Amino acid sequence: MSKEIEMARQHQYSVEATKEADKVTKEVNKKILVEYNSNNSGGDWWLSDRDWFKLEKAGWVVEWRNNAHKPIASNASKEFNDIKEALIEFEKITGQEVTAQGCNCCGPPHNFSWEENGQEYRESGAGLFKYMFDRTCSHREALECINKKGD
Ligand SMILES: [Zn+2]
Repeated sequence: MSKEIEMARQHQYSVEATKEADKVTKEVNKKILVEYNSNNSGGDWWLSDRDWFKLEKAGWVVEWRNNAHKPIASNASKEFNDIKEALIEFEKITGQEVTAQGCNCCGPPHNFSWEENGQEYRESGAGLFKYMFDRTCSHREALECINKKGD
């Protein structure tokens, strides 16, 4: 094999290796779009206008819709590396607990949905416990962890 051919081949290998590396990087950096939906649980909204503004400031896209007298919001979305990151940020900004149960008739106030690896997730209340912990655990285990922490 001539030196030129060998060099051309080496070059082609490195181009392909770079392309492959870019593809892997894109896969690793793939973000998920997390959608938040607020439920008017217990006859009252759980987030104040101020909370929504704070979410907007942190990069959440808040949907405002017209009410009788003033615009109100109940939905927001933002891209994250994973759902845990989204839940932690949401709690930090709003001071809410994402796992809040709400009232018996209306259900949990904080609903999150996202798509990951081609699967759709929709979780709220106790269903969010397992995403707040590093290890996989049942709702009961998660509740026990939290109760222990509170003692
Ligand atoms: Zn209710």
